[in-house]
Amino acid sequence: MSAVRRGRVAVIGAGPAGMATALSVHQAGHEVLLLERYPRARPAGNILNLWPPPIKALGLLGVDTTDLGAPCYTEFRSAAGRTRVRVNLPGDVVRDYGGGFIGLLRPDLYARLLAALPPGVLQVNRTVDSFDQDETGVRLRMVGGETIEVDVVVGADGIDSLVRRTLWGDTPKREHHLHIFGGYTFDDTVTAERGLCLLSHSRTVQGSWTAIRDKGRDGFQWWVLGAHDARTEFTGDPHATAARMGAGFAAPLPQLIAATDPAHVQRWVLRDRKPLKRWSKGRATLVGDAAHPTSPYAAYGAGMATEDGYFLGRRLAGVDLSDHSAVRAALEAFEGPRKPHTARQVQQAYALGKIFHHAPAPLRPLRDALLDRTPFLQKVVGDSSPGEIVAQIAAIDETEARFRAITA
Ligand SMILES: Cc1cc2nc3c(=O)[nH]c(=O)nc-3n(C[C@H](O)[C@H](O)[C@H](O)COP(=O)(O)OP(=O)(O)OC[C@H]3O[C@@H](n4cnc5c(N)ncnc54)[C@H](O)[C@@H]3O)c2cc1C
Repeated sequence: MSAVRRGRVAVIGAGPAGMATALSVHQAGHEVLLLERYPRARPAGNILNLWPPPIKALGLLGVDTTDLGAPCYTEFRSAAGRTRVRVNLPGDVVRDYGGGFIGLLRPDLYARLLAALPPGVLQVNRTVDSFDQDETGVRLRMVGGETIEVDVVVGADGIDSLVRRTLWGDTPKREHHLHIFGGYTFDDTVTAERGLCLLSHSRTVQGSWTAIRDKGRDGFQWWVLGAHDARTEFTGDPHATAARMGAGFAAPLPQLIAATDPAHVQRWVLRDRKPLKRWSKGRATLVGDAAHPTSPYAAYGAGMATEDGYFLGRRLAGVDLSDHSAVRAALEAFEGPRKPHTARQVQQAYALGKIFHHAPAPLRPLRDALLDRTPFLQKVVGDSSPGEIVAQIAAIDETEARFRAITA
């Protein structure tokens, strides 16, 4: 490694973005503090799928990705079973990363990220209350009164990010007026195809399922998603509501929902924020949902959060963090390529939610005829996703070659 002063970086929030950032910054040779407000890094939810680029990034960050999940091929279908989209990734990508879309449970991902973190990096019960910065450094004020001084601060603090608000002001969340119910089961009496991630849409509901693997066990996760007025409180029973919403879909979705322990069913409302023009200011930047809050419709928020962390740490390698202009240049270089990629995913997820769940009733038959009889959805989703994925893998390869040259 070149003789560059070891800098000090604070990462706020121990979700996928924060843990990936901490690992990458540590590998870049800087001291890193990962500050989490809760008593542990707790997974926000259960179900998860990851595309190959985050799997690749995780491996490079030293996370054990062996048998992390079930490799799945992804299709979109109508509720009647007509195929609308095939997400065809190149054969070498499928081979190298264990399949197209990997189905797993979130707690296992967290456990593996935590296992890769060097001792002492994660500090829990540490809530950042505010911060200020100048050209010489950043001062974090912790709840409880302590002040921490660092060279760079990274906001990995989720959709309601304090760092984002401090840098760029408060903006309202964008309500999608949708809610999602998701669950998982290892009940092997339900017959479902392994190796498949199936996203189906009826006139108003998305009903989807995918194979998963968790700690050596094979199972399935599922989710149903539909319109919900975000101003009204949901008072129903999540499992019963999910069963009702999934009832009109082809097997095995209704059977998977029925086989799920109600304790393994969760509900979320969908919201995001419009993409920011800039993420970084001075010595502070954003990663993950803090930078680009992403609706679950994308099924890529945790994946992009992981990629962000990987790329940011790599950009800080070889940088003297006491040098304000060098920090500025590194943060600009980090966010430049990340913004268009993440903004496309955020906006596409928002648009798909509108098309599938908020189309006026008279237009729905027309919409479905368009989706069934034209290549529209294949072009918009099926062909663009592989392109984005291949481009991210190429960006990681290029970044890794540069990182190796710096740290050799
Ligand atoms: C139902 C559902 C399904 C999803 N499915 C997928 C999927 O299949 N694939 C996928 O890639 N993504 C999926 N996502 C999206 C994904 O979960 C998020 O995009 C991802 O968790 C964002 O990670 P993050 O690290 O940026 O933020 P978060 O996970 O929100 O973590 C932020 C962390 O910061 C901490 N924090 C906040 N403020 C402070 C503070 N002041 N001081 C200290 N700590 C603080 C929080 O406690 C938290 O631990 C899904 C989301 C949902 C809701």
